[in-house]
Amino acid sequence: QNYHSVLEENRKLYNEVQDLKGNIRVYCRIRPFLSYQSSKQTTIEYIGENGELVVVNPLKQGKDSRRMFKFNKVFSTAATQEEVFADTQPLIRSVLDGYNVCIFAYGQTGSGKTYTMTGPSSSSKEDWGVNYRALNDLFQISQSRKTSIAYEVGVQMVEIYNEQVRDLLSNGGGQKRYPSTLSYFFWLHLVSYDAVPDASMHSVRSTEDVLELMNIGLMNRAVGATALNERSSRSHSILTVHVRGVDLETDAVLRGSLHLVDLAGSERVDRSEATGDRLREAQHINKSLSALGDVIFALAQKSPHVPYRNSKLTQVLQSSLGGQAKTLMFVQLNPDLDSYAESVSTLKFAERVSGVELGAARRNK
Ligand code: ADP
Repeated sequence: QNYHSVLEENRKLYNEVQDLKGNIRVYCRIRPFLSYQSSKQTTIEYIGENGELVVVNPLKQGKDSRRMFKFNKVFSTAATQEEVFADTQPLIRSVLDGYNVCIFAYGQTGSGKTYTMTGPSSSSKEDWGVNYRALNDLFQISQSRKTSIAYEVGVQMVEIYNEQVRDLLSNGGGQKRYPSTLSYFFWLHLVSYDAVPDASMHSVRSTEDVLELMNIGLMNRAVGATALNERSSRSHSILTVHVRGVDLETDAVLRGSLHLVDLAGSERVDRSEATGDRLREAQHINKSLSALGDVIFALAQKSPHVPYRNSKLTQVLQSSLGGQAKTLMFVQLNPDLDSYAESVSTLKFAERVSGVELGAARRNK
């Protein structure tokens, strides 16, 4: 098989679709095998330098056994957190230029979404995920611009579970408090209309402030999780950063926002097995992930109607999806053969939102 010739065939098509894509990027990341995984048989056959990915399942026959995809970039199992972030950095800068940016992690539970967005719990600096690095960059860049622009930064953190938004930094309900909740007026002054409604907003001045807040948010998320085992994989968590900058010479005001989203696990639940709460959760997750797919697809196609109202997730993110907003989706994959079906389903979702469909990889005759 010569993948390059197949890719070449599709390049024209791909370039055409690229033009349509506007501000949507898709990066695929493959998590390494974990030490406890006994079988190390992989489903990843080929990773190209320009975002090509071929997955195979030798146990299958015909066109279902091999599929080719193309994204903006594919990170192999060897990619470090730093390398992954390097390609995200320009988006962070644009938040300070007044853009709305949305970064998602999508994939089945255990595929590395939290690893990419937050990092492992070890929290040593080199393991930092996109969230910490993004905030760290925001402060560094805003500092470097301080003689010309004065920035203020506010943070919100919520989770969406069964179509309900829960504030992870709220002061009520016996949850941990964060001291510097913004006053209502400052809150209004900082953001206009694109804040997450009914969620507290907290002023932050340094990466340390953000680290503290995020830890509180993660703890509060875990508190909710004790009632329902492993709930975190079945809820979406959203860290929102609002930036307001005042040009010191002209008093012109710019506003930008950054949504960092760790989505619920995308695995399909066997309807015959799931009942009660589990089934309800699964239905809510399916609904919100397909609503998200529909919104991004509509944006990629420049469709006149974008169906934001179909889920809480897309409502909350509305201001940062579409218009001048920039969207990046990390598509996370498990490397093992057992995950082939789930991986193909994940990749098809990603392919659809990126607006590029190549279909099954053809074999050369
Ligand atoms: P998810 O959030 O998709 O459920 P996690 O981020 O919790 O998945 O990852 C599952 C496991 O795999 C965790 O133990 C995590 O530390 C590990 N892991 C994920 N991605 C990587 C990676 N790139 N390098 C090393 N370990 C990883």
